[in-house]
Amino acid sequence: MRTAVVVGAGIGGLAAAGALARSGWQVTLLERADRVRADRTALVLWPNGLRALRALGLGDGLDAIGTPLRDTGVRRPDGHWLVQPRARAAHRAPVVVHREDLHDALVAGLGDRVDIRTGVTVRGVEPGGRLAVTDGIQAYEADLVVAADGPDSAVRARVAPESTVVSSGCTAWRAVIPWYRAPRLPADRPVGGETLGAGYRFVAASLGERGSSGGSTRGGVYWVATAAGAPRPEPPATQLDFLRRWFADWPAPTADLLAATEPDDLVQQEVRELRPLPKAYALPIGRGGVVLLGDAAHAMPHHLGQGACLAFEDAATLQAAVREAAPGRALRAAIETYDRQRRPRAATMVRQTRRMSAVLQTRGRLALRARDAALGAINPRLLGSAATAAAQWRPPS
Ligand SMILES: Cc1cc2nc3c(=O)[nH]c(=O)nc-3n(C[C@H](O)[C@H](O)[C@H](O)COP(=O)(O)OP(=O)(O)OC[C@H]3O[C@@H](n4cnc5c(N)ncnc54)[C@H](O)[C@@H]3O)c2cc1C
Repeated sequence: MRTAVVVGAGIGGLAAAGALARSGWQVTLLERADRVRADRTALVLWPNGLRALRALGLGDGLDAIGTPLRDTGVRRPDGHWLVQPRARAAHRAPVVVHREDLHDALVAGLGDRVDIRTGVTVRGVEPGGRLAVTDGIQAYEADLVVAADGPDSAVRARVAPESTVVSSGCTAWRAVIPWYRAPRLPADRPVGGETLGAGYRFVAASLGERGSSGGSTRGGVYWVATAAGAPRPEPPATQLDFLRRWFADWPAPTADLLAATEPDDLVQQEVRELRPLPKAYALPIGRGGVVLLGDAAHAMPHHLGQGACLAFEDAATLQAAVREAAPGRALRAAIETYDRQRRPRAATMVRQTRRMSAVLQTRGRLALRARDAALGAINPRLLGSAATAAAQWRPPS
Protein backbone atom coordinates (compact mmCIF):
# COMPACT_ATOMS: atom_id res chain seq x y z
CA MET A 1 0.00 0.00 0.00
CA ARG A 2 1.34 3.47 -0.88
CA THR A 3 1.62 5.64 2.22
CA ALA A 4 1.37 9.40 2.64
CA VAL A 5 1.70 11.73 5.60
CA VAL A 6 -0.07 15.07 5.23
CA VAL A 7 1.16 17.71 7.67
CA GLY A 8 -1.52 20.29 8.58
CA ALA A 9 -5.29 19.94 8.53
CA GLY A 10 -6.16 23.36 7.13
CA ILE A 11 -8.10 23.73 3.90
CA GLY A 12 -5.12 22.56 1.81
CA GLY A 13 -4.21 19.56 3.97
CA LEU A 14 -7.81 18.33 4.16
CA ALA A 15 -8.21 18.60 0.38
CA ALA A 16 -4.91 16.77 -0.26
CA ALA A 17 -5.53 14.04 2.33
CA GLY A 18 -8.98 13.30 0.90
CA ALA A 19 -7.67 13.33 -2.67
CA LEU A 20 -4.91 10.84 -1.87
CA ALA A 21 -7.20 8.58 0.18
CA ARG A 22 -9.76 8.49 -2.64
CA SER A 23 -6.92 7.48 -5.01
CA GLY A 24 -6.06 4.45 -2.88
CA TRP A 25 -3.30 5.89 -0.68
CA GLN A 26 -3.09 5.13 3.02
CA VAL A 27 -3.01 8.58 4.58
CA THR A 28 -2.05 9.90 8.02
CA LEU A 29 -3.05 13.50 8.65
CA LEU A 30 -1.08 15.29 11.37
CA GLU A 31 -2.42 18.49 12.94
CA ARG A 32 -0.84 20.45 15.77
CA ALA A 33 -4.14 21.84 17.11
CA ASP A 34 -6.19 19.74 19.52
CA ARG A 35 -8.95 19.44 16.96
CA VAL A 36 -9.53 19.96 13.26
CA ARG A 37 -11.59 23.11 12.83
CA ALA A 38 -12.17 26.19 10.70
CA ASP A 39 -12.51 29.81 11.76
CA ARG A 40 -15.98 31.40 11.76
CA THR A 41 -15.43 33.54 8.68
CA ALA A 42 -15.98 32.99 4.98
CA LEU A 43 -14.08 33.01 1.71
CA VAL A 44 -14.62 33.53 -1.96
CA LEU A 45 -14.08 30.62 -4.33
CA TRP A 46 -13.21 31.80 -7.83
CA PRO A 47 -13.91 29.60 -10.85
CA ASN A 48 -10.43 28.08 -10.74
CA GLY A 49 -10.96 26.99 -7.12
CA LEU A 50 -14.41 25.65 -7.98
CA ARG A 51 -12.99 23.71 -10.92
CA ALA A 52 -10.29 22.26 -8.68
CA LEU A 53 -12.86 21.18 -6.08
CA ARG A 54 -14.92 19.53 -8.82
CA ALA A 55 -11.80 17.74 -10.12
CA LEU A 56 -11.28 16.50 -6.57
CA GLY A 57 -14.77 15.01 -6.62
CA LEU A 58 -16.10 17.56 -4.10
CA GLY A 59 -18.35 19.48 -6.46
CA ASP A 60 -21.67 17.98 -5.34
CA GLY A 61 -21.90 19.80 -2.04
CA LEU A 62 -20.81 23.17 -3.40
CA ASP A 63 -24.17 24.24 -4.75
CA ALA A 64 -25.67 23.78 -1.30
CA ILE A 65 -23.11 25.91 0.53
CA GLY A 66 -22.05 28.54 -2.02
CA THR A 67 -23.76 31.87 -2.65
CA PRO A 68 -22.98 33.45 -6.03
CA LEU A 69 -21.11 36.73 -5.67
CA ARG A 70 -22.52 39.62 -7.63
CA ASP A 71 -20.10 41.99 -9.35
CA THR A 72 -20.77 45.14 -7.38
CA GLY A 73 -17.86 47.15 -8.79
CA VAL A 74 -15.31 49.14 -6.84
CA ARG A 75 -15.83 52.55 -5.26
CA ARG A 76 -13.71 55.16 -3.56
CA PRO A 77 -14.63 56.13 0.00
CA ASP A 78 -16.36 59.25 -1.41
CA GLY A 79 -18.66 56.99 -3.45
CA HIS A 80 -17.01 57.70 -6.85
CA TRP A 81 -16.92 54.56 -9.01
CA LEU A 82 -13.42 53.33 -9.77
CA VAL A 83 -14.79 50.31 -11.57
CA GLN A 84 -18.46 50.09 -12.54
CA PRO A 85 -20.31 46.83 -11.81
CA ARG A 86 -20.50 44.59 -14.84
CA ALA A 87 -22.53 41.53 -15.71
CA ARG A 88 -20.47 38.39 -15.21
CA ALA A 89 -20.58 35.38 -17.49
CA ALA A 90 -22.03 32.47 -15.51
CA HIS A 91 -18.82 30.42 -15.79
CA ARG A 92 -16.88 33.32 -14.27
CA ALA A 93 -19.13 33.78 -11.27
CA PRO A 94 -17.35 33.20 -7.97
CA VAL A 95 -19.20 32.00 -4.88
CA VAL A 96 -18.83 32.93 -1.25
CA VAL A 97 -18.88 30.12 1.32
CA HIS A 98 -18.76 29.95 5.09
CA ARG A 99 -15.42 28.40 6.06
CA GLU A 100 -17.12 26.01 8.48
CA ASP A 101 -19.38 24.73 5.67
CA LEU A 102 -16.41 24.27 3.37
CA HIS A 103 -14.49 22.58 6.14
CA ASP A 104 -17.37 20.15 6.79
CA ALA A 105 -17.44 19.28 3.08
CA LEU A 106 -13.67 18.64 3.08
CA VAL A 107 -13.87 16.50 6.24
CA ALA A 108 -16.74 14.50 4.71
CA GLY A 109 -14.45 13.93 1.71
CA LEU A 110 -11.88 12.19 3.93
CA GLY A 111 -14.19 9.20 4.34
CA ASP A 112 -12.93 6.69 6.88
CA ARG A 113 -9.61 6.04 5.17
CA VAL A 114 -7.60 8.86 6.74
CA ASP A 115 -5.94 8.40 10.10
CA ILE A 116 -6.24 11.83 11.76
CA ARG A 117 -3.83 12.59 14.62
CA THR A 118 -4.35 15.89 16.40
CA GLY A 119 -2.01 17.51 18.93
CA VAL A 120 1.01 16.54 16.82
CA THR A 121 3.41 19.38 16.01
CA VAL A 122 5.76 18.30 13.27
CA ARG A 123 9.28 19.62 13.77
CA GLY A 124 10.91 18.49 10.57
CA VAL A 125 11.72 15.77 8.05
CA GLU A 126 13.99 12.81 8.71
CA PRO A 127 15.45 11.89 5.34
CA GLY A 128 17.21 8.76 6.71
CA GLY A 129 16.75 5.43 4.96
CA ARG A 130 12.99 5.75 4.77
CA LEU A 131 11.35 9.18 4.57
CA ALA A 132 9.63 10.29 7.80
CA VAL A 133 8.43 13.40 9.59
CA THR A 134 8.88 13.75 13.31
CA ASP A 135 7.40 15.69 16.20
CA GLY A 136 10.46 14.99 18.31
CA ILE A 137 8.74 12.04 20.00
CA GLN A 138 7.58 9.82 17.19
CA ALA A 139 8.60 9.40 13.55
CA TYR A 140 5.83 9.01 10.94
CA GLU A 141 7.19 7.13 7.91
CA ALA A 142 5.73 7.49 4.44
CA ASP A 143 6.49 7.28 0.73
CA LEU A 144 5.10 10.78 0.26
CA VAL A 145 5.03 13.74 2.65
CA VAL A 146 2.67 16.59 1.84
CA ALA A 147 3.62 19.79 3.68
CA ALA A 148 0.33 21.65 4.11
CA ASP A 149 1.38 23.27 7.37
CA GLY A 150 0.71 26.86 6.36
CA PRO A 151 2.93 29.94 6.05
CA ASP A 152 5.19 28.98 8.98
CA SER A 153 5.73 25.47 7.59
CA ALA A 154 8.30 23.50 9.56
CA VAL A 155 8.69 21.10 6.63
CA ARG A 156 9.45 23.91 4.15
CA ALA A 157 12.60 24.70 6.12
CA ARG A 158 13.96 21.36 4.79
CA VAL A 159 12.67 21.62 1.19
CA ALA A 160 13.15 25.35 0.61
CA PRO A 161 15.26 26.96 3.34
CA GLU A 162 15.66 30.08 1.19
CA SER A 163 11.98 30.97 1.54
CA THR A 164 10.75 32.82 4.64
CA VAL A 165 7.46 34.33 5.68
CA VAL A 166 7.38 38.12 6.05
CA SER A 167 4.76 40.77 6.81
CA SER A 168 3.00 42.27 3.78
CA GLY A 169 2.64 45.55 5.67
CA CYS A 170 -1.07 45.32 6.37
CA THR A 171 -3.59 43.68 8.68
CA ALA A 172 -6.98 42.16 7.90
CA TRP A 173 -10.10 41.91 10.03
CA ARG A 174 -12.94 39.57 9.08
CA ALA A 175 -16.35 38.74 10.48
CA VAL A 176 -19.59 36.99 9.62
CA ILE A 177 -22.62 38.77 11.11
CA PRO A 178 -25.39 36.18 11.50
CA TRP A 179 -28.66 37.11 9.79
CA TYR A 180 -30.52 37.73 13.04
CA ARG A 181 -28.09 40.59 13.79
CA ALA A 182 -27.38 41.77 10.25
CA PRO A 183 -28.74 45.21 9.33
CA ARG A 184 -31.91 45.34 7.22
CA LEU A 185 -30.99 47.33 4.15
CA PRO A 186 -33.20 48.88 1.49
CA ALA A 187 -33.77 46.65 -1.56
CA ASP A 188 -31.93 49.13 -3.82
CA ARG A 189 -28.91 49.10 -1.50
CA PRO A 190 -28.15 45.41 -0.96
CA VAL A 191 -25.16 44.07 0.92
CA GLY A 192 -21.98 43.67 -1.02
CA GLY A 193 -19.23 45.50 -2.81
CA GLU A 194 -15.73 46.73 -2.53
CA THR A 195 -14.43 50.16 -1.48
CA LEU A 196 -10.81 51.20 -1.80
CA GLY A 197 -9.23 54.09 0.09
CA ALA A 198 -5.72 55.26 0.94
CA GLY A 199 -4.26 52.21 2.61
CA TYR A 200 -7.72 50.90 3.49
CA ARG A 201 -10.11 48.47 1.81
CA PHE A 202 -13.54 47.12 2.75
CA VAL A 203 -15.30 44.23 1.02
CA ALA A 204 -18.70 42.74 1.95
CA ALA A 205 -20.76 39.85 0.61
CA SER A 206 -23.96 38.07 1.48
CA LEU A 207 -23.91 34.43 2.58
CA GLY A 208 -27.26 33.13 1.37
CA GLU A 209 -30.58 34.96 1.70
CA ARG A 210 -32.00 36.21 4.95
CA GLY A 211 -34.58 33.70 6.19
CA SER A 212 -33.98 31.23 3.37
CA SER A 213 -33.27 27.60 4.09
CA GLY A 214 -31.06 27.32 1.00
CA GLY A 215 -27.54 28.68 0.61
CA SER A 216 -25.09 28.49 3.44
CA THR A 217 -26.23 26.77 6.59
CA ARG A 218 -24.30 29.46 8.42
CA GLY A 219 -25.72 32.46 6.63
CA GLY A 220 -25.22 36.13 7.29
CA VAL A 221 -23.08 38.93 5.99
CA TYR A 222 -19.35 38.47 5.53
CA TRP A 223 -16.98 41.41 5.48
CA VAL A 224 -13.21 41.89 5.27
CA ALA A 225 -11.46 45.12 6.19
CA THR A 226 -7.80 45.69 5.39
CA ALA A 227 -5.62 48.49 6.74
CA ALA A 228 -1.95 49.29 6.24
CA GLY A 229 0.10 48.68 9.38
CA ALA A 230 0.75 46.03 12.03
CA PRO A 231 -1.90 44.06 13.95
CA ARG A 232 -3.42 45.92 16.90
CA PRO A 233 -2.52 44.61 20.34
CA GLU A 234 -5.72 46.06 21.90
CA PRO A 235 -8.68 43.81 22.80
CA PRO A 236 -11.27 43.07 20.05
CA ALA A 237 -13.75 45.67 21.36
CA THR A 238 -11.11 48.41 20.94
CA GLN A 239 -10.12 47.07 17.51
CA LEU A 240 -13.77 47.31 16.52
CA ASP A 241 -13.85 50.93 17.70
CA PHE A 242 -10.83 51.66 15.48
CA LEU A 243 -12.50 50.03 12.49
CA ARG A 244 -15.71 52.02 13.06
CA ARG A 245 -13.64 55.22 13.17
CA TRP A 246 -11.43 54.42 10.15
CA PHE A 247 -14.40 53.45 7.96
CA ALA A 248 -16.94 55.92 9.41
CA ASP A 249 -17.75 57.90 6.25
CA TRP A 250 -17.40 55.07 3.75
CA PRO A 251 -20.26 54.24 1.39
CA ALA A 252 -23.21 52.33 2.84
CA PRO A 253 -23.54 49.73 4.19
CA THR A 254 -20.00 49.81 5.65
CA ALA A 255 -20.91 51.67 8.85
CA ASP A 256 -24.13 49.60 9.30
CA LEU A 257 -22.14 46.38 9.06
CA LEU A 258 -19.50 47.52 11.52
CA ALA A 259 -22.22 48.71 13.92
CA ALA A 260 -23.86 45.25 13.78
CA THR A 261 -20.55 43.44 14.38
CA GLU A 262 -19.74 42.25 17.90
CA PRO A 263 -16.19 41.93 19.26
CA ASP A 264 -16.50 38.12 19.37
CA ASP A 265 -17.21 38.07 15.61
CA LEU A 266 -13.87 39.70 14.84
CA VAL A 267 -10.90 37.73 13.46
CA GLN A 268 -7.74 39.82 13.19
CA GLN A 269 -4.84 38.49 11.11
CA GLU A 270 -1.52 39.92 10.04
CA VAL A 271 -1.23 39.65 6.26
CA ARG A 272 1.94 37.75 5.37
CA GLU A 273 3.65 36.30 2.34
CA LEU A 274 6.59 34.11 1.35
CA ARG A 275 9.66 35.96 0.09
CA PRO A 276 11.22 34.64 -2.00
CA LEU A 277 8.92 31.90 -3.19
CA PRO A 278 10.47 28.43 -2.77
CA LYS A 279 12.85 27.41 -5.55
CA ALA A 280 11.28 23.95 -5.52
CA TYR A 281 7.89 22.56 -4.51
CA ALA A 282 9.14 18.98 -4.46
CA LEU A 283 12.15 17.23 -2.98
CA PRO A 284 12.59 13.61 -4.05
CA ILE A 285 13.76 11.48 -1.12
CA GLY A 286 13.85 7.69 -0.80
CA ARG A 287 10.96 5.99 -2.63
CA GLY A 288 9.10 9.28 -3.08
CA GLY A 289 9.65 12.61 -1.40
CA VAL A 290 8.21 15.80 0.01
CA VAL A 291 5.89 18.29 -1.70
CA LEU A 292 4.78 21.76 -0.59
CA LEU A 293 1.10 22.67 -0.89
CA GLY A 294 -1.14 25.65 -0.06
CA ASP A 295 0.20 28.51 2.04
CA ALA A 296 3.27 26.42 2.90
CA ALA A 297 4.19 26.76 -0.78
CA HIS A 298 2.89 30.21 -1.74
CA ALA A 299 1.41 32.27 1.13
CA MET A 300 0.40 35.60 -0.38
CA PRO A 301 -1.74 38.60 0.60
CA HIS A 302 -5.48 38.00 0.28
CA HIS A 303 -6.11 40.90 -2.12
CA LEU A 304 -7.15 38.66 -5.04
CA GLY A 305 -8.79 36.05 -2.78
CA GLN A 306 -6.81 33.23 -4.34
CA GLY A 307 -4.88 31.47 -1.52
CA ALA A 308 -7.39 28.71 -0.85
CA CYS A 309 -8.26 28.40 -4.55
CA LEU A 310 -4.58 27.76 -5.30
CA ALA A 311 -4.41 25.20 -2.47
CA PHE A 312 -7.27 23.31 -4.17
CA GLU A 313 -5.46 23.57 -7.52
CA ASP A 314 -2.35 22.13 -5.79
CA ALA A 315 -4.37 19.23 -4.37
CA ALA A 316 -6.03 18.44 -7.73
CA THR A 317 -2.66 18.60 -9.52
CA LEU A 318 -1.02 16.36 -6.92
CA GLN A 319 -3.85 13.85 -7.15
CA ALA A 320 -3.50 13.65 -10.93
CA ALA A 321 0.32 13.41 -10.78
CA VAL A 322 0.57 10.60 -8.22
CA ARG A 323 -2.66 8.71 -8.98
CA GLU A 324 -0.93 5.83 -10.78
CA ALA A 325 2.60 6.34 -9.44
CA ALA A 326 4.23 3.43 -7.63
CA PRO A 327 6.81 4.29 -4.94
CA GLY A 328 10.27 4.46 -6.48
CA ARG A 329 11.25 6.07 -9.74
CA ALA A 330 7.64 6.69 -10.85
CA LEU A 331 6.66 8.50 -7.67
CA ARG A 332 9.81 10.60 -7.70
CA ALA A 333 9.06 11.59 -11.29
CA ALA A 334 5.44 12.32 -10.37
CA ILE A 335 6.35 14.81 -7.66
CA GLU A 336 8.74 16.54 -10.05
CA THR A 337 5.82 16.88 -12.47
CA TYR A 338 3.84 18.48 -9.63
CA ASP A 339 6.70 20.93 -9.06
CA ARG A 340 6.89 21.84 -12.76
CA GLN A 341 3.15 22.42 -12.97
CA ARG A 342 2.65 24.37 -9.78
CA ARG A 343 5.63 26.73 -9.47
CA PRO A 344 4.98 28.90 -12.55
CA ARG A 345 1.28 29.09 -11.70
CA ALA A 346 1.93 30.24 -8.13
CA ALA A 347 4.56 32.73 -9.34
CA THR A 348 2.05 34.32 -11.74
CA MET A 349 -0.58 34.69 -9.04
CA VAL A 350 1.93 36.13 -6.58
CA ARG A 351 3.04 38.67 -9.20
CA GLN A 352 -0.56 39.79 -9.76
CA THR A 353 -1.19 39.96 -6.03
CA ARG A 354 1.91 42.09 -5.46
CA ARG A 355 0.72 44.60 -8.06
CA MET A 356 -2.55 44.78 -6.18
CA SER A 357 -0.65 45.23 -2.89
CA ALA A 358 1.21 48.19 -4.38
CA VAL A 359 -2.08 49.72 -5.53
CA LEU A 360 -3.67 49.16 -2.13
CA GLN A 361 -0.86 50.65 -0.15
CA THR A 362 -0.58 53.83 -2.20
CA ARG A 363 -0.89 56.94 -0.03
CA GLY A 364 -0.65 60.67 -0.72
CA ARG A 365 -2.90 62.82 -2.94
CA LEU A 366 -0.98 62.61 -6.21
CA ALA A 367 -0.25 58.95 -5.75
CA LEU A 368 -3.92 58.35 -5.05
CA ARG A 369 -4.97 60.04 -8.27
CA ALA A 370 -2.50 57.88 -10.16
CA ARG A 371 -3.86 54.84 -8.39
CA ASP A 372 -7.46 55.66 -9.23
CA ALA A 373 -6.53 56.17 -12.88
CA ALA A 374 -4.58 52.92 -12.84
CA LEU A 375 -7.50 51.04 -11.31
CA GLY A 376 -9.85 52.23 -14.02
CA ALA A 377 -7.40 51.14 -16.70
CA ILE A 378 -6.31 47.86 -15.15
CA ASN A 379 -9.67 46.30 -14.49
CA PRO A 380 -10.62 43.54 -15.12
CA ARG A 381 -7.15 42.07 -15.39
CA LEU A 382 -6.15 42.84 -11.89
CA LEU A 383 -8.89 44.08 -9.70
CA GLY A 384 -11.16 42.01 -7.53
CA SER A 385 -12.48 39.72 -10.19
CA ALA A 386 -9.25 37.73 -10.59
CA ALA A 387 -10.84 36.82 -13.90
CA THR A 388 -7.58 36.16 -15.65
CA ALA A 389 -6.47 33.74 -13.00
CA ALA A 390 -9.80 31.99 -13.13
CA ALA A 391 -9.70 31.63 -16.89
CA GLN A 392 -6.15 30.33 -17.01
CA TRP A 393 -6.33 27.16 -14.98
CA ARG A 394 -7.79 23.81 -15.93
CA PRO A 395 -7.32 20.62 -13.87
CA PRO A 396 -4.75 18.22 -15.34
CA SER A 397 -6.36 15.13 -16.81
C1 LIG B 1 -8.17 38.05 5.33
C2 LIG B 1 -8.02 36.87 4.41
C3 LIG B 1 -8.99 36.62 3.46
C4 LIG B 1 -8.84 35.55 2.58
N1 LIG B 1 -9.79 35.34 1.64
C5 LIG B 1 -9.63 34.33 0.75
C6 LIG B 1 -10.61 34.13 -0.27
O1 LIG B 1 -11.62 34.84 -0.34
N2 LIG B 1 -10.40 33.12 -1.17
C7 LIG B 1 -9.28 32.32 -1.12
O2 LIG B 1 -9.13 31.45 -1.98
N3 LIG B 1 -8.35 32.50 -0.16
C8 LIG B 1 -8.49 33.48 0.77
N4 LIG B 1 -7.56 33.65 1.75
C9 LIG B 1 -6.39 32.76 1.80
C10 LIG B 1 -6.70 31.44 2.49
O3 LIG B 1 -7.30 31.67 3.74
C11 LIG B 1 -5.42 30.63 2.70
O4 LIG B 1 -4.67 30.64 1.52
C12 LIG B 1 -5.75 29.19 3.07
O5 LIG B 1 -6.53 29.15 4.23
C13 LIG B 1 -4.46 28.39 3.26
O6 LIG B 1 -4.80 27.11 3.69
P1 LIG B 1 -3.64 26.08 4.11
O7 LIG B 1 -4.34 24.83 4.48
O8 LIG B 1 -2.60 26.03 3.05
O9 LIG B 1 -2.91 26.73 5.37
P2 LIG B 1 -3.48 26.99 6.84
O10 LIG B 1 -4.89 27.41 6.80
O11 LIG B 1 -2.49 27.91 7.49
O12 LIG B 1 -3.45 25.57 7.55
C14 LIG B 1 -2.25 25.01 8.04
C15 LIG B 1 -2.60 23.96 9.08
O13 LIG B 1 -1.40 23.32 9.48
C16 LIG B 1 -1.36 23.25 10.89
N5 LIG B 1 0.07 23.27 11.25
C17 LIG B 1 0.93 24.31 11.17
N6 LIG B 1 2.16 23.96 11.54
C18 LIG B 1 2.07 22.65 11.88
C19 LIG B 1 3.03 21.70 12.35
N7 LIG B 1 4.33 22.04 12.54
N8 LIG B 1 2.62 20.43 12.61
C20 LIG B 1 1.31 20.07 12.41
N9 LIG B 1 0.37 20.92 11.97
C21 LIG B 1 0.75 22.20 11.69
C22 LIG B 1 -2.11 24.48 11.36
O14 LIG B 1 -2.59 24.35 12.68
C23 LIG B 1 -3.25 24.54 10.33
O15 LIG B 1 -4.34 23.73 10.71
C24 LIG B 1 -7.70 34.71 2.65
C25 LIG B 1 -6.73 34.95 3.64
C26 LIG B 1 -6.89 36.02 4.51
C27 LIG B 1 -5.82 36.28 5.54
